[in-house]
Amino acid sequence: MPKILLVEDEAPIRDMVRFALSRAGMEMQDVESVQQAEELLALRRPDLILLDWMLPDENGLVLLRRLRKDKDRRDIPVIMLTARAEEEDKIKGLEVGADDYITKPFSPPELIARIKAVLRRATGADTSGTLRAGRLSLQPGARLVRCEEKKIDLGPTEYRLLEFLLSHAGRVYSRGQLLDYVWPDVGEREERTVDVSIRRLRKALAPHACDVMIRTVRGAGYSLSVKGMDGA
Ligand code: CA
Repeated sequence: MPKILLVEDEAPIRDMVRFALSRAGMEMQDVESVQQAEELLALRRPDLILLDWMLPDENGLVLLRRLRKDKDRRDIPVIMLTARAEEEDKIKGLEVGADDYITKPFSPPELIARIKAVLRRATGADTSGTLRAGRLSLQPGARLVRCEEKKIDLGPTEYRLLEFLLSHAGRVYSRGQLLDYVWPDVGEREERTVDVSIRRLRKALAPHACDVMIRTVRGAGYSLSVKGMDGA
């Protein structure tokens, strides 16, 4: 049963979400502020966080940014709930590392569908630990990347980059975030490093027509997408 943490200060929305989640067989805990969320997160790890943007003590984005910088909690999927529908806000949320974004008012079926989609992406690994997206697969232990049955040779950096993007498929990462996650020990923080590796990765995937999966998201960064692959 997936455990969802809701951070939301409006009681009617909490009630609506609680009802929708319980009907969908999900467990929910709810808090009303960033501080309460922090206290709860110190005790237990939810499978997903529904995070309101405007909260009484701090902005939801502040919590999101803190989570994404924390090595133990950066993988927790986060869906932003917000009344703000501006494109610029949406990009800001995704840039900070939100997995999805729901604009209020939303319907219970929409909420449940988004949660399920994000949880599916977050647990994209099969039981053998192999990461898959579309026709691509990566076996972490064996350091093996394949497109269907064909082996793809990658340099160590491009391998790490692909492994990271595959295990967070669908999520958008800025160049700065990719530097943090894929190049944690590199002193010189050149965002160009990321572009060079993305280019090399696409070149290696191009003969297998998988290069299109590495998407450039304008103004935000990069993402691995299976859209258009295998009808996904
Ligand atoms: Ca609010």
